[in-house]
Parts: sequence; structure tokens; C-alpha cells
Amino acid sequence: MKFIDLRRQYEKLENEINANIQKVLEHEQFIMGPEVEELERELAKYTGRKYAYTCSSGTDALVIPLMAYELEKTDAVFVPSFTFFASAESVNLAGATPIFVDSKNDFLLDCEDLECRIENTIAEGKYVPRGIIAVNLFGQVCDFDEIGRIARKYNLFVLEDAAQSMGAARCGRKSGSFGDVSATSFFPAKPLGCYGDGGAIFTDDDELASKIKSIRVHGQGGGRYDNVRIGLNGRMDTLQAAILQPKLKILDEEIDLRQKVAEHYTRLLREQFTTPQVLEGNVSAWAQYTLLADSEAQRNQIVEGMKDKGIPIMVYYATPLHMQTAYRYLGYADTDVENASGLSKRVFSLPMHPYLNEDEIVDICNQLNLIANK
Ligand SMILES: *Cc1c(COP(=O)(O)O)cnc(C)c1O
Repeated sequence: MKFIDLRRQYEKLENEINANIQKVLEHEQFIMGPEVEELERELAKYTGRKYAYTCSSGTDALVIPLMAYELEKTDAVFVPSFTFFASAESVNLAGATPIFVDSKNDFLLDCEDLECRIENTIAEGKYVPRGIIAVNLFGQVCDFDEIGRIARKYNLFVLEDAAQSMGAARCGRKSGSFGDVSATSFFPAKPLGCYGDGGAIFTDDDELASKIKSIRVHGQGGGRYDNVRIGLNGRMDTLQAAILQPKLKILDEEIDLRQKVAEHYTRLLREQFTTPQVLEGNVSAWAQYTLLADSEAQRNQIVEGMKDKGIPIMVYYATPLHMQTAYRYLGYADTDVENASGLSKRVFSLPMHPYLNEDEIVDICNQLNLIANK
């Protein structure tokens, strides 16, 4: 059994994907070919944003708008500690400093803790609060009403890290449409994935959009060899855009299938485990179906026990960012971001993709319930 089975999706889209790849091989516009612009139009329409720009990865999708904000080392960007490394790394790459915020048991930013840390940062005076990166971890959109309220109060920008949440929605609004600017990833295993690295940036802000477009291509100005700022080579290649087009068409259908898988898991597991909480008004993209074990020992026993049965279980994430070696220079202690540390000891994720069938789900749950009962 595979943790994420991409083959089953390919079997469904094989003809369209192959034809699209062939088309690119024939027109030979491998960089910024027509498919890139077509995909950007489709993505803007899908998310309801005025602008959508594809780029080279989810990490660059975060870095590029952060570069547009022209941050300095003494500028602070608030980021959850319980997330993938790139959410915070992007802040450093853009020249600023991340300040880690705690998460709740729904794996999303703890807004009370966020406000507390903003206040403390202002009081200490070492860093100037500039922005918030809200991560839709495991596919669920954060409470952007509350995050927006805090951002307005302290005059901060909001960057939606939608790397795990393409196709998700909150109160009828699609992920990719929240905050001042949104970033997503098309890494193959994400809810909308290509066959390599890729990402996209979404915004409604005209000025930000023009900076993003410029930074994506070496800080381009009016002409091709006119450079008005420092940028990067952040383009998506045409082949990846051509591969994404048919996948975007079936994304909503796949999101529905993911709901069915998640509901089935929850039905079979809720008596033994703390099953994932979905906020009211949310449709999760279920990038991960993540459970909480009672303890670190039980979690590790589950991971090992399931591996013996040939069922892959992943731990996202075993180390909260405030305890990563790369962030030792910031001087955090384990208990400084307490719930993030606790979650990292107890979480484990089950195989999750739209094409997981009933027999597989039942088998996974039976094995899991057996191990948990020992
Ligand atoms: C995957 C991911 C990223 C980075 O995306 P890449 O395409 O791998 O660079 C950023 N943030 C989160 C939350 C992610 O899961």
C-alpha cells in the first residue's frame, strides 16, 4: 500500500496528460509557453483572485511575496512552529526573522497566542512586527476572520500558506483567496500536484502583483534586460503547467472523494482516537488525515506496528520549527511553544488520497484499532 497513490490518478487522466505533454514537446516553448498563462487564468478563476502567478515551487511562492514586502533582519514575521520548514525558511530567505507561534489541537494557528507574541515583540522592541504567515496545515483553512482582525489591529500583512490546501474552502470561499497574498505548492504529493516542483501566488493587490511578477523573473523592469530590483529565477516550466491543467479540472471532484475517505476513517476510528477536528464552515482538502495518539510511546508503537503490516504511516512533523537546529540561533526552549512540542510527539498520519478504496480503509482501521488496544 502506498501513502499517496499518484498512479491511480494518472490512470484516470493518462490520455489528457500525455496529449498535453506531447503538445509542449511540439511547440517547444518550454519556458513561459502558452500553457503557463492559460493555467494562471484558470487558477485565478478557480480561487476568485484577481491575479495568479505560477512559480518554481511552494517555497518560492512564499519567498517572492515576502521579497516584495522589502523586509529587514529586524522585521518579524509570525509563523506557526508546527508546520513544514519552508513556511519559516521563506522568512529568512527574504531577509527577515520568524517568530514562532503556537498551534491548537486542530493543527492551526492559536490566535490568542499570536496576539500575545505580537504584544511581547512590541514591548521588547528588538523586532518590528510586519506580517503573519497563516498555514492551512493538513488541508484546512485557518480562521482568517480572526487573523485579519489581529493583522488590522497591528498593521501587519497576512500571507496564506496554502501549500496543503488547494481545493479547500471556508464559508464558501476557496483557499488561495485569503489574506493579502496566498502561496501554494504543486509538489507531487500535495492536493493539487504536478510531476516536479511548482507553485503559485495569488493576490488582489495591483501593486503587490506587479512586484511579484517582476521578482519572479530576476526583478525585471520594462524590458527583458532591464532589472529594477533583486529577484530570482522563479518561473514554472511549461510542461508542469500542461500537466496541471487536466488535474485542476478534476480537483473539486477529488476534494469530494477525499471527504468520503476522511468521513469513513473518522467513523471507524473515533472511539479509539482523537480524530481530526474540522472547523465549522470548512471543507478540508485533507492533504493529511492526522490522528493524535495518547502519548509519544503509543505513537511510535503505532508507526512500527503498522509498518510490520505493510501500511505506511507518516509523522508530520516530529520536530517543531522552534526546535530545529537551523533555528537554534533564536534561542527557543522546547516549552516556549508548548502545544507545538506536544503535538509533534503525538501526531501520526494515515494513507490519504482520493482513490483509497473501502477495503483499504477498513483494513487500515482494523489494524490500527488492534494495535491501539494492545
Ligand atoms: C510543501 C509545503 C511548502 C513548500 O512547498 P515546496 O513546493 O515543497 O517548496 C510550504 N509550506 C507548507 C505548509 C508545505 O506543506
